[in-house]
Amino acid sequence: MAGRKNIIITIDGWSSCGKSTLARQLARELNYVYIDSGAMYRAITLYFLRNHVDWTDPAQVMEALGNIQLEFRFNEQSQKSEIYLNDENVEYLIRDLVIAEKVSDIAAIREVREFAVGQQQEMGKRKGIVMDGRDIGTVVFPKAELKIFMTADNAVRVERRFKELFEKNPNISIEEVKNNLEMRDYIDSHRDVSPLRQAEDALVLDNSNLTMGEQLKLAMKWVNEKLLV
Ligand code: C5P
Repeated sequence: MAGRKNIIITIDGWSSCGKSTLARQLARELNYVYIDSGAMYRAITLYFLRNHVDWTDPAQVMEALGNIQLEFRFNEQSQKSEIYLNDENVEYLIRDLVIAEKVSDIAAIREVREFAVGQQQEMGKRKGIVMDGRDIGTVVFPKAELKIFMTADNAVRVERRFKELFEKNPNISIEEVKNNLEMRDYIDSHRDVSPLRQAEDALVLDNSNLTMGEQLKLAMKWVNEKLLV
């Protein structure tokens, strides 16, 4: 694919639909950069919790954001891009349910979103990027060439996230995971600032009954159609 044009691919959707899996597959296939925007909101949440920031107080939020530096670094060993919070690799820590329980409240704060969105837009300047999240096709890159909106049956999503979290913490219950997904989806789609919604020009990918290979094939068909335009 020498000389091929670079595009921006956005993947939005409900929690635990497999957005990051597809984003990673596409980035590998196309040799693009993958940015997990949710990791940024999770890392900010980790900072707020560690530093006892009262996020109902805008002055404390602004001060805290001024002390946060986020960076993605590619780990050759895991072949994954990992997030660093003030030079510390927090990729593993931010996946904890303690973070998942607070992240949607923090991601709903206007100042937090402005901070994250500005950095995300900067990362997309050179194109050749796949970014997943909740507002990527609607707010971060409204002019992206390819927008995918992912969805999957609730039961499938709960099962997937449960398996992932159970590996780290065998004490976790399926109820806890289900409640967390429902709560985050509710907050994410009802907040005032950039709520989760499907962009009008997004293509819907329901992967409830698709294998990883099948979802990649479908998404690559869409990518190739965009690359030909
Ligand atoms: O994608 P992930 O589940 O890791 O995202 C964690 C949380 O971060 C979401 O539940 C949502 O509250 C927030 N988020 C967001 N906007 C994005 C990405 C994530 O509000 N673009």
